[in-house]
Formats: sequence, structure tokens, C-alpha cells
Amino acid sequence: MILALFGPPGSGKGTQAKYLIRSLGIPQLSTGDMLREAIKSGADVGKRAKDFMDRGALVPDDLMIALIGERTSQSDCQKGFLLDGFPRTVQQAEALDRLLTSRGLAMTAVLSFKVDRAELVARLSGRLVCSRCGASYHERAKPTKVEGVCDLCGGSVGKRPDDRPEVVESRLETFMTSTQPVEAYFRQQGRLLEVDALGSEEEVKQRVAAAINGGRAG
Ligand code: AMP
Repeated sequence: MILALFGPPGSGKGTQAKYLIRSLGIPQLSTGDMLREAIKSGADVGKRAKDFMDRGALVPDDLMIALIGERTSQSDCQKGFLLDGFPRTVQQAEALDRLLTSRGLAMTAVLSFKVDRAELVARLSGRLVCSRCGASYHERAKPTKVEGVCDLCGGSVGKRPDDRPEVVESRLETFMTSTQPVEAYFRQQGRLLEVDALGSEEEVKQRVAAAINGGRAG
């Protein structure tokens, strides 16, 4: 099973990805997490990506395509994988198709998360993330039990540098101009499943499961 989660920053892709990988038994390939790890470890990819990420811009396609090509060839991806945050441009989507075709594979479905802009800004401005396990919280809507400490793994929880208001604006703009066309690309191929991503995590989780089980691509 090869799935991709598509949607603007703050639409809940990462949160739902965590549920999905547990129920489907496939790894989550979050390109954002991979890049943040690379920055932390001082890897070359991280050095090349950091400036783009700090500005809320997209990291160049060639770098992202190479990253995903390498990651999907690892042994834990043999039974499938869940893409979270990739592809983000039509060039990336086309490269992904070529990559999968060359390996005799095809995308199963792309889930498109629908949330309006005002809600995205509210979610991102209060978002808190665990630096160890990636669990997501919110200052008001979903605080940690102990301030600054992850409920799940005890790691330290704080704001992502690119969740600052001025960077959020530019990430949403980037989504509208560069990433939104990817949705039409997958819709044309009949692989797009739309999910209403407003509501509680549990409600969205049920809708995601229903979309995958029903396979109502349109
Ligand atoms: P995310 O955690 O998915 O919000 O990603 C954080 C940042 O990483 C984005 O704002 C981009 O700068 C970069 N990034 C992640 N995935 C991609 C991608 N597929 N293409 C280009 N840039 C990406």
C-alpha cells in the first residue's frame, strides 16, 4: 500500500499519519521530519535545506526527489509506505510516478485534507511539537499534561521555528501557488480521496478510515 497525505501546513497530516502507520503497519515518510533530522545531525542535506525552511519556502525539487528515492529503497518500505509532505510540486509528483513505475509499483491513493485558512492559522500559531517523537499538541486545544514535556515519550515539547506568524503566512502562500496544483494532478488520475479535516482528531481519523476503505477516488 502506497499512500500520500496531501494538504496545507496545519491540516493534520502528521497527526493522522501517526494513527495510519499504526493500523497499516507501514512506515511514515515525513519529508519535513527527515529534513529537520538532517539539520539536527549536521548532514549535508540539512545544510542545503535550512535556509529554505527558515523562510517557509520549498526545498529544491532535485534534493527532495533524491531524498525520497533513497528513503523508499530501504527495506522497511518493501510492504509500502505513507508519504507525509511529499510530493509538494507537480515536478515532484511526476518524478514520484516515474520512480514507482520503474520499480513496478503505483500509488494506491492520495488523501487530500480540507481545512479553511482561518483554522490553519489558529492551529499553527498554537502548535507545539515533541522534538523526540514528533507528537503534536496545541497550547489551548490540546496541551501537554506537564508543560514542555511530551505525554507519550517524555521528550521536550516546543514551537517549531517555522510556526512564527510571518513564516506561517509565507508557507500558506507557497502551498497555494506551488503545492495546490498537485491536487489536480492526482484528481485527474482518479487517485484523490478528499477528507473533511475539520473537527476532532477522532472524527478525522474515522473519515480517513472510511475514505481508504471505501476507496472513493474522484
Ligand atoms: P513540514 O514539516 O511538512 O511542514 O515541512 C517543513 C518544511 O520542510 C517546509 O516548509 C519546506 O521548507 C520543507 N519541505 C518538506 N517537504 C518538502 C517537499 N516535499 N518539497 C519541498 N520542501 C519540503
